[in-house]
Amino acid sequence: MSAQHQLPLRCWAEIDLGALERNLRHIRASLPEHMRYVAVVKADAYGHGLHQVAARLMHAGADLFAVATLAEAAALRELGPGWPILLLSPLVPDEDKLILQQDVAVTVSSLDEVERFSMVAAAANQQIKVHLKIDTGMGRSGVWHEEAKVVFDAIVAAESLALAGIYTHYSSSDADPAFTATQRSRFRTALDQLEGLDFDNLLIHADNSAGLETIERAGPFNAVRIGLLQFGILPRRGSLLADVHPDPVFSFHTRVGLVKTLPAETGISYGQTHRLTRESKVAVLTAGYGDGIPRSLSNTGEVLIAGQRCPILGRVTMDQTIVDVTDLDSIASGDRVTLIGKQNGAEIGIGEFSDWDGTIPWETLCSVTKRVPRIYRTALGQ
Ligand SMILES: *Cc1c(COP(=O)(O)O)cnc(C)c1O
Repeated sequence: MSAQHQLPLRCWAEIDLGALERNLRHIRASLPEHMRYVAVVKADAYGHGLHQVAARLMHAGADLFAVATLAEAAALRELGPGWPILLLSPLVPDEDKLILQQDVAVTVSSLDEVERFSMVAAAANQQIKVHLKIDTGMGRSGVWHEEAKVVFDAIVAAESLALAGIYTHYSSSDADPAFTATQRSRFRTALDQLEGLDFDNLLIHADNSAGLETIERAGPFNAVRIGLLQFGILPRRGSLLADVHPDPVFSFHTRVGLVKTLPAETGISYGQTHRLTRESKVAVLTAGYGDGIPRSLSNTGEVLIAGQRCPILGRVTMDQTIVDVTDLDSIASGDRVTLIGKQNGAEIGIGEFSDWDGTIPWETLCSVTKRVPRIYRTALGQ
């Protein structure tokens, strides 16, 4: 425990590792037995904390880990040597020489990368593991699907590269199942053109959380890459994935610092963008945008105190946020305030919170700042 964790809490995130483990087990149980589970833990495991999350996912039965950067791979390596790690993002050339040190598989999208990685591997007299990424309509990394064969052939010809997988990524699996079907079919067509594929020794993967809604149970796919859903969050409202009973891992809390009464007509916070319409009791919370309460929640968001929704008044500031508590029976400095999560039977979901901010849960999780300690609950429970 760091010194920070021994101080009383002012704003913190609770991370329910038991829920994380249950989510993984439920997702696995919903998939065909042969599907490998690639746990996506980039961006500090979606802000939940890489070490604690990855350790629990190892215990719960993840097969592989996917991260964005070599630094994230290095942090994972400290936990357990031998776990397969896939780097999803392109490397910059001066990073190439570190691939072998971290023993990671890298994503290849171009002939240029084949050349760079095979030179580094040959110079060390070792092999680098690669996954060929095919762009079937995301327009981000990957070789365009009609040109995949050229890069595939170059990988196979490069003795210092070992092909470990082939994958694609969906651009719209949370919104446009028809386009996802197009991407699947482009991927299959591209695979059909590659000669000598050894499906027993290759990971063939496409589905992210939302992809699971329309996953192909037969066919070439033998792995999934799961980020958001393992954290207990549905990729969209009304998702069929509610069937796997995702249980939120993350909740976000702060406390009441000060309670006071102000006369009607008082302007609240910077710019006086809210003016009290009645004599009001307000609470000043001990968190602001410096902790990850977006400034766009000014005059828009709500928080839970004693299980009641209390509206945010005026602008959110860096360290303090003001809410209306006129209608609460009893409130005192020190009381617990929930920003995202459940309290006394009421709930503010991360979807609702993200909507207030005009964003998506993925970004909300990445926006909780370093100032906010993550408090881990470890029991498995039910
Ligand atoms: C982040 C990411 C994922 C995980 O996506 P979720 O929607 O969070 O499940 C899967 N694949 C790639 C390539 C990614 O970048």
